[in-house]
Amino acid sequence: MSKSFGVQDYLEGIRNKNRTVLSRAITLVESTNPDHQKMAQELIHLVLPMSGNSKRIGISGTPGVGKSTFIEAFGKLLTSKNKSVAVLAVDPTSKVSGGSILGDKTRMNELAIDPLAYIRPSPSGESLGGVARRTREALLLCEAFGFDYVLIETVGVGQSETTVSQMVDLFIMLLQPGAGDDLQGIKRGILEVVDMVLVTKDDGDQQKIIQKAKHDYQMALQILRHDGKIPPVLSCSSLTNSGFPEIYHLIETYFADQGPYILEKRNRQGIDWMWQLIQEGLKDLFKKEVGQEEINQFESLVLSKNKTPSESASLLLRRFKNKN
Ligand code: GDP
Repeated sequence: MSKSFGVQDYLEGIRNKNRTVLSRAITLVESTNPDHQKMAQELIHLVLPMSGNSKRIGISGTPGVGKSTFIEAFGKLLTSKNKSVAVLAVDPTSKVSGGSILGDKTRMNELAIDPLAYIRPSPSGESLGGVARRTREALLLCEAFGFDYVLIETVGVGQSETTVSQMVDLFIMLLQPGAGDDLQGIKRGILEVVDMVLVTKDDGDQQKIIQKAKHDYQMALQILRHDGKIPPVLSCSSLTNSGFPEIYHLIETYFADQGPYILEKRNRQGIDWMWQLIQEGLKDLFKKEVGQEEINQFESLVLSKNKTPSESASLLLRRFKNKN
């Protein structure tokens, strides 16, 4: 990155819808270099008033369920309606490959060359917390750039689904019956936050299985949801595009009907995010101040049952307080 490229240059590039600058800006927010981080924070602060106007959609599902094929088909449906779309990914498993989802250039071939679309792989070499922070910031940059939709793809690994559900307006879960995506395999917590369920690959001779899966998910959602918002369950095929007009219509209706609710949701997400960062920051500070050696000692004492976890926690917290 050339030294002379300053925060104002990034800002201007984004304002002028220069994609190269957008990519550079996302690289800046992904950088762990403290100087870049400082610049990135300044840039995020400046783009904030320009952000907030995209429809933020999360798309989750286990590997092989059909996420990238769905995003390609749905993305193309959007661009055929002259809507622009950015695709980001949260993939905490992409440590080595530099992005195992979206990283493979053979995926989303057609969307990748669509002038109304922008695809960015997951930042690599990071913990979920790190990936989540950078994706939130990349989302703001894409919004400032003016994309109508920002799609965030995630695999169902660990907490990544929950993390993505906390940064989008509409959270879609893709399921494939007969691929271990039966009711037992689904994390209950996810069904409580999902806004739409799509059964994928509805184009073969498995009609009976697909209909049964839809019915079972509908029943499960009715039991599990306590907020009165029972998400719709649809099926689709990304190969034949069956189900896509209904999905598009439902998504548009969701955004039209839920306007005030979405604002409220974003506000809540912002506050939750702030507290999450405070917790992470405090934990880092705690570890630094108390020191790993002492922490190890107390962990051993808990393991050998010489101290209870709560005794150890209060002693460690006291040490931390004494140092501050
Ligand atoms: P991801 O890992 O969730 O992103 O899944 P992919 O989109 O890479 O799809 C995994 C496999 O399922 C690929 O071989 C796709 O061609 C296939 N696939 C995806 N969507 C469909 C669909 O709607 N119908 C059929 N028959 N196959 C599909």
